[in-house]
Amino acid sequence: MTNAANAEVRQVLEGFMAHVIKRNPGETEFHQAVREVAHSVIPYTFDHPEYRKEKILARMTEPDRIIIFRVSWEDDEGNVRADRAWRVQFNNSIGPYKGGLRFHPTVNQSILKFLGFEQVFKNSLTTLPMGGGKGGANFDPKGKSDREVMRFCQSMMTELYRHIGARVDVPAGDIGVGAREIGYLFGQYKRLRNEFEGVLTGKGLAFGGSLIRTEATGYGTVYFMENMLNHRGDGVKGKKCTVSGSGNVAIYTIEKLLDLGATAVTASDSGGTIYDPDGIDREKLAWLKELKEVRRGRISEYAEHFGCEYMPGKRPWVVPCDLAFPSATQNEVDAEDARTLVDNGCFGVAEGANMPSDTDAVAVFQEAKIMYGPGKAANAGGVAVSGLEQSQNSTRVAWTRDEVDEKLHKIMSDIHEQCVIYGGSDDGYVDYVNGSNIGGFVKVANAMLGYGVV
Ligand code: NDP
Repeated sequence: MTNAANAEVRQVLEGFMAHVIKRNPGETEFHQAVREVAHSVIPYTFDHPEYRKEKILARMTEPDRIIIFRVSWEDDEGNVRADRAWRVQFNNSIGPYKGGLRFHPTVNQSILKFLGFEQVFKNSLTTLPMGGGKGGANFDPKGKSDREVMRFCQSMMTELYRHIGARVDVPAGDIGVGAREIGYLFGQYKRLRNEFEGVLTGKGLAFGGSLIRTEATGYGTVYFMENMLNHRGDGVKGKKCTVSGSGNVAIYTIEKLLDLGATAVTASDSGGTIYDPDGIDREKLAWLKELKEVRRGRISEYAEHFGCEYMPGKRPWVVPCDLAFPSATQNEVDAEDARTLVDNGCFGVAEGANMPSDTDAVAVFQEAKIMYGPGKAANAGGVAVSGLEQSQNSTRVAWTRDEVDEKLHKIMSDIHEQCVIYGGSDDGYVDYVNGSNIGGFVKVANAMLGYGVV
């Protein structure tokens, strides 16, 4: 592009963002997610004026609708609690809304809108017919009894069931929502509707769940990293890796790294990070799974049990590594963390979490030209297997573990391929941010063009 053309693109981008910020005041995470996409897509629309004329990107930043409701419930002591829940139905141009539910005290509309917006692009990249949505509540499951979590889920579904359905909107899990919560939510949906349908994914295997769904996000993130490395003639085997988080995504990232001959040396939670220089082997991983999935304990207990270092209040990025897998939450890698990673020799980042690297951190990775796989591409394996769960539910079949894993492999490799098509350059560097944003945009945009002005 010439300097004049560059200046025009910048001006359009800034004008576009000023409008988004004005329309959505205070929603900083949402602004951040839109800016990242607009940065890739607006230059692309200069070569494709039909998208600009029909204001496709502007329309994509406005959710189809947001449902906000009160969730009243009673705790074990008989106290009445009132929390707030949302379902953001962002865009159903290419299929029913699809995206997780998050239970965390920090949940607010900005966070759910950023997640819903990203989900539109991610779901499109999977090649499956899924629109984008997200939801959740500011309910904190930590420290609550099973019965309290059950009562909350039942109360939440008593409103949510009106707005979802196998062909309308199919929620799944996210932070704070795992197999236990999905079971309670599905049980209440089934009771209210008197229908057994694939309205939620991440269900238990006894009631319509898919094999590999639990593992899919973590496994898929490692497959995506393997694809990025293979593209450069390298592989995951033998690499030293840092992983953040110790929830669903982190645990199955560590597991797949072990399967492929790599070593994870860190895990974390909101309290701090453990550094195990010998690596988290299978025995330690089994212990960690039990700690997090059954006992719901803290990561510091790992350090006490296995006698390794615990860094309270710290994130894993100070530990030198070849590859990094941010797998906890948004904005958990800032510019300083990114510089530390790069200076210590890290040459690949695959995001298991959604938007874990802030805008400045992404700039550091891109300037250093290391492989950087953003969440909407790298962690799409979770929603992809959710899509496969929907297919199995609607055709009343259950695929084997190998069948699902093979499909997951293929989807991750197809996503990588789309990133190369839209983000590759002559010097061999692949800009996975541009690749995933444009790759995800095109399919949804073409569907919207087809629908006319709706
Ligand atoms: P879990 O609830 O299973 O685990 C979350 C982990 O992240 C926990 O270790 C938690 O620690 C930590 N964490 C959460 N919030 C914070 C915070 N504010 N600061 C520091 N640590 C934090 O969630 P998942 O593993 O399912 O999700 C992790 C990420 O992956 C999220 O960004 C999610 O959106 C994304 N993702 C998940 C998918 C899935 O299929 N589950 C699919 C695609 C993306 P603590 O216990 O102390 O809170």
